[in-house]
Amino acid sequence: MLRIQQLVQKQRTFFATGKTKELDFRKEQLLQLQQAIRKHEQELIDAMYADFRKPEFESFISEIGFVELELKLTLKNIENWVKPKPVKEALLNFPSRSYVYSSPYGINLIIGPWNYPINLLITPLLGAMAAGNCIILKPSEIAANTSAVIAKMIRETFDEEYVAAVEGGVETTQHLLAQRFDHIFFTGSTRVGQIIMKSAAEHLTPVTLELGGKSPAIVAEDADLELAARRITWGKFLNAGQTCVAPDYLLVHEQVKEELVQLITQCITDFYGDDPDKSPDFARIINDSHYERLSGLLRQGTIRTGGQTDAKQRYIAPTLLDQVDWEHPVMQEEIFGPILPVLSYSNLAEAIELVNRGENPLALYFFSSSRKKQQTVLRCTQFGGGCINDTVSHLVNPNLPFGGVGGSGVGSYHGKSSFNVFSHQKSVLHRGTWLDLPLRYPPYQNRLPLL
Ligand code: NAD
Repeated sequence: MLRIQQLVQKQRTFFATGKTKELDFRKEQLLQLQQAIRKHEQELIDAMYADFRKPEFESFISEIGFVELELKLTLKNIENWVKPKPVKEALLNFPSRSYVYSSPYGINLIIGPWNYPINLLITPLLGAMAAGNCIILKPSEIAANTSAVIAKMIRETFDEEYVAAVEGGVETTQHLLAQRFDHIFFTGSTRVGQIIMKSAAEHLTPVTLELGGKSPAIVAEDADLELAARRITWGKFLNAGQTCVAPDYLLVHEQVKEELVQLITQCITDFYGDDPDKSPDFARIINDSHYERLSGLLRQGTIRTGGQTDAKQRYIAPTLLDQVDWEHPVMQEEIFGPILPVLSYSNLAEAIELVNRGENPLALYFFSSSRKKQQTVLRCTQFGGGCINDTVSHLVNPNLPFGGVGGSGVGSYHGKSSFNVFSHQKSVLHRGTWLDLPLRYPPYQNRLPLL
């Protein structure tokens, strides 16, 4: 606790020197981060494999490669991003000029989850650095191997007065939360998000919350079903379903349900072979407690494909679950594993009503060839972000702010949004001194009719 207190104080002292606000310093440190990731790339990939057998290809595209692209984009644009942005003048302020200054918050706490342990810690980190902040990182203790490599990499690369990583579980996080930060960026479950927001309220600390939820994949009767099946299968079983934006459940028009189930079953075989247990491209469940929770969810409904489990290696096969009720636990909690319940609807209004019954999902995916239906779904549902005729891929475009709304989160990042989310937008009016109209000053006398 004392060490954490001292660390925060140390960062506060360093931030007060103004060093982190210098453009050259920011660029230099971002380059250091880039080099550190390149240097530790294999170690990080190996650590994720040790944590949950994350396939190397997935580790590259969704973690290392992703962060590398964000770093490149940030280094390319930072000079422009830090410039004060002029805005249009209000006539009443004549003569004047007005600017929005992006001002770093100060000391930031970034708390990460285990499921994309590098991406979800380093992407916010680089945004916070670009914006000129000091940062304390709290990697997830659940991906313990990756947490250790990240902490080592951060120690080797940065002075702790600027960027530090604090490893530990709930108790450590509680000690961190007892400190006063200038901004907290949290990625994790909705339940813990509430804890974070409550403790931040103590100091009115601004929070960004990147949470979860039940993200639907809705498939209309006029969709390209083969394509939908491929894209849903990929998005769902990537990282063994342990993806915040994975399609949580399938809501398919009753006319095409059977065909879609057949096609997804075929895709599972095409992607992972007859026995996904043997596939090098299919990850494992992160720990025993999640394995137990997910195995329990298989006791409801009818298994259409998959359903095999192996506790020793925490393996759960890619599974399609039919005959599921909205009241079943599998439909009451975020699944966060390789189990896809299949529910059906008879008309689009019903599908929309079913989705809107729950919390706002982090993502929504709609498959249809009808522009009219696409517009209806977009207009009538609230969700963080999503895709029409695809899954998960909206994350790849750095020009799309990524985040949830309501139960799925507060605030967004990626690309320029990562810079914005770690900056306070300071609005400043520069007033000319050569003219000072007396109209606003008392005594007001009979000025009202003049307005
Ligand atoms: P989690 O909420 O259990 O843990 C996240 C972090 O909070 C960890 O660092 C953990 O140490 C800390 N923590 C856990 N319990 C705490 C407590 N009681 N007090 C203080 N800190 C605590 O989440 P997780 O299991 O690591 O990740 C899975 C969840 O995260 C899912 O709900 C998923 O949807 C969500 N998620 C969201 C995004 C997103 O970008 N929106 C991305 C990944 C995961």
